Amino acid sequence: MSERDGFLDPVTSAGVFDFDTLKVHAGYDPADHHGATSVPVYETAAFGLGSPERAQRLFTFQECHPTYSRTANPTVGVLESRLAALHGVPGAVAVASGMAAVSYALLNAVGASGRVLSIYQLYGGTLDAFASLFPQFAVDFDAVEDPTDLTEFARRLTPETKCIFIESITNPLATVLDIEGIAAIAHEHGIPLIVDNTIATPWLLNPFEFGADVVVYSATKALAGHGNALAGVILESGDFDYANGRFPHFTERLWAFRNAEDEPRSILEVSPRTPFVGRVRNVLLNYLGATLGAFDAWLVLLGIDTLSERVHKQCESTKRLIEYLRTEPLVDRILHPSCGSADADLVKKYLPRGEGSVLSFSFKGSRQQQQRFLESLRVFIYQANIGDARSLIIDPALTTHNELTPAQREKLGLGLSTIRISVGLENPCDLIADLRQAFAAVR
Ligand SMILES: *Cc1c(COP(=O)(O)O)cnc(C)c1O
Repeated sequence: MSERDGFLDPVTSAGVFDFDTLKVHAGYDPADHHGATSVPVYETAAFGLGSPERAQRLFTFQECHPTYSRTANPTVGVLESRLAALHGVPGAVAVASGMAAVSYALLNAVGASGRVLSIYQLYGGTLDAFASLFPQFAVDFDAVEDPTDLTEFARRLTPETKCIFIESITNPLATVLDIEGIAAIAHEHGIPLIVDNTIATPWLLNPFEFGADVVVYSATKALAGHGNALAGVILESGDFDYANGRFPHFTERLWAFRNAEDEPRSILEVSPRTPFVGRVRNVLLNYLGATLGAFDAWLVLLGIDTLSERVHKQCESTKRLIEYLRTEPLVDRILHPSCGSADADLVKKYLPRGEGSVLSFSFKGSRQQQQRFLESLRVFIYQANIGDARSLIIDPALTTHNELTPAQREKLGLGLSTIRISVGLENPCDLIADLRQAFAAVR
């Protein structure tokens, strides 16, 4: 571990050390920080440039070092390097929230205008943005009706389609998408596949191993794991060819990217190994400014220290809860990748370590009984989040997905009686007892 350069290089270190070692070490060398064991929080807006000569080097991309925390900060940088190492890829950029990660990734892929091919079974905010906001930025949306039908993905591509955007495990329907198959279709068409891997987490699934070009997270959820910070991240494989003619915004030469000889350059020239992340950082983050603060980055780093231990326990507890829910007469149709809502072969291929800790079921009773059930819970917290250390419960159709029309909700597979649970770190016996007493209160 004293191999400083090797250890700091995410790709090299990913090949040498296991996930559990990387998650507490990668991207950070205490020797650069007075030997501090815990990553220091650099709460500073700007960094001294040294001399005018060095400033010239920094501003012409000859030397890489933070100058202003809107686009780079050492604490945020450790988070970026650590996540890159956990995925075995060369580039990551952290942003202020999961929605910022989704929006920047899509705007970055599309450029001046174009279409995104996606699915209806998306995070509510993403689906809503596709419908009401992105078209104002000339980003238009097409969605396949059946995300398990690869031929439909191929059929729905147009010459204007600039990327395919999917979620690896959908919520709340809990289907698992065939990332490898969809990546092959995207690549045949010369466009990248972007995967929102928030629900799976990198410990359960690394989409890059199956051909994804860009992966985004809401780090607010299981990566941070404590429900105490908002954050997002965009990672790239470094393998996609953005010079293939479909992405002029990656090859256009900008004065802002000029070299020491005052020659304008493209982002592909400035950031050849990580052009996608480089453009997000130097264009979208620089000008739109949804920057992650150093302290929030530190909170996410603290969460990642225990990512596999938490996710492992939460997956095990989820299985116990599902066993119980199967015996409960007021429960209908449980949705989780482990219970037939997804193709069993895909679950085995993509989620061998566990199927995640978000599950849904239909409440078999009146609206009044459903309200009474939710009010009677004492351990579960009724709120709109997932991936917390505490167990959370919500009725999404009436809350988080409230803005969707009944027709849109139907496309999502979201009924008024759908109840979603995000399993936390409590003793599963207490969680089952809590559900049991709440069901009993209704009867
Ligand atoms: C929560 C979530 C988002 C948005 O993340 P924020 O951090 O809340 O902005 C995006 N995608 C998925 C799958 C999510 O669960």
